[in-house]
Amino acid sequence: MTTVDQFSPLVRRITAPNGSAMTGAGTNTYLLGNDEIAVLDPGPVYDSHVDAILEAGAGKIRWIIVTHTHKDHSPVAAILAEKTGAELVGCMMDPPDSFQDQTFQVSKNIGDGEQFKTDEFTLEAIHTPGHVGNHICYFLHEDGLLFAGDHIMDGSTVVIIPPSGDMRDYVDSLEKLKKFPMKAIAPGHGNLMPEPLKVVDGLVRHRSMREQKVISGMKQLGEASLLGMLSTVYNDVDKNVLFYARFSLWAHLLKLERDGLARRTSRNVEFDQDCWELV
Ligand SMILES: [Zn+2]
Repeated sequence: MTTVDQFSPLVRRITAPNGSAMTGAGTNTYLLGNDEIAVLDPGPVYDSHVDAILEAGAGKIRWIIVTHTHKDHSPVAAILAEKTGAELVGCMMDPPDSFQDQTFQVSKNIGDGEQFKTDEFTLEAIHTPGHVGNHICYFLHEDGLLFAGDHIMDGSTVVIIPPSGDMRDYVDSLEKLKKFPMKAIAPGHGNLMPEPLKVVDGLVRHRSMREQKVISGMKQLGEASLLGMLSTVYNDVDKNVLFYARFSLWAHLLKLERDGLARRTSRNVEFDQDCWELV
């Protein structure tokens, strides 16, 4: 049976049954409000998950809001919209890649700094490109709660997926959060995270540490393909996540290229076959 966790008078959480090395216990779907409900990140399609959202929504679902359009976050939106008539709120889809949910059709676009208001709460959109270009975090003013989608995860590191995802944007988007009076972070995967500023600073430090590891790996290996340097740069991560670490390594290399510290010496059909060296 699906559990509904109540975080505050305004916020409930239902976790989808899509747990894995990359998604933790599964995608978190949040229900906001009581009289009229907004469903944030409705998640991937599992009948039990759709039923749990509809049951908790009790006929009062008016809006469906997404942080981004990855397949583990938005596909239930189309189904819920059809069943409830709810309005789909979010961002335009990024250029399609195999991770994007093509079924999501936004009916109300929300931009950086815009406030989504109901009689019960105010949710502020914060454009946070990095994981992907169309990522939006939402700040719930009443609770000081940041809905972080895949910008910040509990228990695992966010994958940066170029070309839409961008490492420098990611770090800038972390810094951008600091001006909000956050009391806790509600991530798209994992548990509620207290001490938000500590979390954000820790993530910025982690990325800078990884960049140093990329540089020292490249010093050690000389000219090498992305795939050839993967296990050196990510020798501290679980083998199961190495496949996804390729994308973040790519993002690091593109950042180093932009910073004038690395160059691509050969370009291939597959990005992970490209060769790189330090300048
Ligand atoms: Zn994602």
